[in-house]
Amino acid sequence: MAKREDCYPIKAYAAISTEEDIRNQSSSGGVFTLLAEKVINQGGVVFGARFDESWQVVHAKAEKVEDLSFFRGSKYVQSKMGNCYAEAQEHLKQGRNVMFVGTPCQIAGLHQFLGKPYEKLLTVDFICHGVPSPAVWRWYIDRKTSEIARKSLKGRFYYWKDGGDFVSDVEFRDKTYGWKQFSMVIRTKGKTYSERHFNDPYMKAFLNNYSLRPSCYSCKMKCGRSHSDITIADFWNVHRVTEQFDDDKGTSLVLANSLKGLSLFQQLHCRSKEVDFNDAIQYNRAWSIPYDKNENRDYFFQHYKEQMDAIVSSTNQ
Ligand SMILES: Cc1cc2nc3c(=O)[nH]c(=O)nc-3n(C[C@H](O)[C@H](O)[C@H](O)COP(=O)(O)OP(=O)(O)OC[C@H]3O[C@@H](n4cnc5c(N)ncnc54)[C@H](O)[C@@H]3O)c2cc1C
Repeated sequence: MAKREDCYPIKAYAAISTEEDIRNQSSSGGVFTLLAEKVINQGGVVFGARFDESWQVVHAKAEKVEDLSFFRGSKYVQSKMGNCYAEAQEHLKQGRNVMFVGTPCQIAGLHQFLGKPYEKLLTVDFICHGVPSPAVWRWYIDRKTSEIARKSLKGRFYYWKDGGDFVSDVEFRDKTYGWKQFSMVIRTKGKTYSERHFNDPYMKAFLNNYSLRPSCYSCKMKCGRSHSDITIADFWNVHRVTEQFDDDKGTSLVLANSLKGLSLFQQLHCRSKEVDFNDAIQYNRAWSIPYDKNENRDYFFQHYKEQMDAIVSSTNQ
């Protein structure tokens, strides 16, 4: 079992999927899908995070390329792990290739659970800002859905609980206004809600560190301590490092942390360029340092159900 020590990548890359649709549906440059397709096409199984039928975020598995669409896109909510660690272990014991994607702490938890290395396991984490509370998400999506239903369904009083089949899609990273000015989008059978991240109260609460889980403010898995094979991220400020990779449609930063991860990444068909790790990481502090708790976080948790918009309105992201 690897000790929880800092782990600097062997190589760092800027990378972009050449499939425009996939890139558009992905948060960054679409590298997750490229990796996952490779593993599935080799007969493997992929674990990642998706919405369940009531729009909560859960970990699940996919064995078909078509099902990867459910995992695509960041969901800024702590996912429920369910039985996925045990299922992954079962597949590994049967000799199958397994790719497991999660937050750095989820990947560290998987390593701990398995208790020994498996040659056929590929672990992928991402640079993590922290994960918001599922309770705040539950409240926000119910409130938004009810608002949309009241506007769309002609004046009757609606309180919509659990999204149900009224909601057809949720995207935290819609790119209609570009990758940098991403929007929160909730599509329903009625109207569509769309608001850029700096105007949406849920995203403001996330990005300004009101709604993260308490452990995120003292995260122990920074600096590569999850020992994942690959770390993926948004390559923020890519124009300062390699200008040709910035078209505002999404660029991934890929950190190959192990030889296994490096070898798989080098087999992908994508547009990529090796970059200096220190140049790239200076614009993404979440790789090395947890965000500080917002000084009004306790107040936020006591009052978000009555005053979420007002509490987050004075913050700057
Ligand atoms: C909570 C959270 C915080 C993040 N913070 C940062 C950050 O500070 N800086 C940064 O550069 N990047 C951050 N990212 C990563 C970034 O948003 C992209 O997910 C990443 O760059 C991969 O993008 P992609 O285009 O390759 O593929 P995408 O298709 O966008 O990748 C989605 C992958 O993320 C997994 N995933 C989605 N939501 C969750 C979740 N809630 N829990 C576990 N796994 C999930 C899916 O299973 C899938 O494997 C964060 C992601 C999440 C979910």
